[in-house]
Amino acid sequence: MARTLRGRFAPSPTGLAHLGNAWSFLFAWLAVRQAGGEILLRMEDLDLERCSPVYMQMLMSDMRWMGLDWDEGPTPEKELGAYHQSNRFRLYEDALQELVAKGLAYPCFCSRKDVRGMASAPHIGDAGAAYPGTCRRMPPAEAARRIARRERFSWRFRSTDKVFRFEDGLYGLQEARLADCGGDFNLRRSDGVFSYQLAVSVDDALMGVTQVVRGRDILPSTPRQLALMEAMGWEAPSYVHIPLLLDAEGERLAKRHASLSLRSLRDEGVSPWRVVGLLARAAGLCDRLEEVHPRDLVHSFHFSTMRPADYTLSDNDMAWLTGREAGSWQAP
Ligand code: GLU
Repeated sequence: MARTLRGRFAPSPTGLAHLGNAWSFLFAWLAVRQAGGEILLRMEDLDLERCSPVYMQMLMSDMRWMGLDWDEGPTPEKELGAYHQSNRFRLYEDALQELVAKGLAYPCFCSRKDVRGMASAPHIGDAGAAYPGTCRRMPPAEAARRIARRERFSWRFRSTDKVFRFEDGLYGLQEARLADCGGDFNLRRSDGVFSYQLAVSVDDALMGVTQVVRGRDILPSTPRQLALMEAMGWEAPSYVHIPLLLDAEGERLAKRHASLSLRSLRDEGVSPWRVVGLLARAAGLCDRLEEVHPRDLVHSFHFSTMRPADYTLSDNDMAWLTGREAGSWQAP
């Protein structure tokens, strides 16, 4: 019997939720609701210094305002629950130890500066410069000596030149070697913070996620997550990378766009159904700009009806959204 579709939305609560977050959540949500599946909300708050419980609460309230709900996720209580990465360090540590025991992780004593300076391998997307493998061949006795001397070190994944292939739900067949997307990637930083790659792989696998929907800027991470899941003997979910929503300058929407935060739109009195209508139009799901409730998009939703090109928000879009004249939209 086919497994129930289990999706997830995994924001990093480092600022006010913006249209880009709403965009990712909307399509993950539509895919799940269309298939009668389940969706979970997970707070990616690994970096405790940058994440705030206030942003988490506001994000949940903003998503509900837009008519998006979830079947599992953080509870209103103050204590951190199973859906906060900051409360799951034990699981990441166990996975790391298993990789170490299998010989698939090694300690790396290079500083960030060293790594930048030595980098020469090609890379794609946001993967950054590939790690040149300096500590990969270090004899275990030398590594043990340096650890005993309390030198700072991170843990890296020992990659192979296997080609990872997967069928992306929107962009079709993808294939890459780890060397094409960063090489031996980090599992735990020298300050003890677990890497996004490790945490997200552990969580998607152990939370039983069967479909990951996220921005195409994260595509170069997928082979790394497939490698980790394979190394741990876990079944990987299917992946759908979606186009990006860009601002008028062609930049990806990010937290610095305070004016595009859902909170500021709410404060301006913008209707949430306008926000959904704009996103649906931008993705090619509707022919014209009109107010729409996410529920009304469920029946006809399929990724094949989505336009795969990135979408740049125009002045006209913002004018329609806020009910102002074109060209008069400015950051408050
Ligand atoms: N936490 C990541 C972000 O907010 C998303 C990671 C993912 O979907 O895998 O950008």
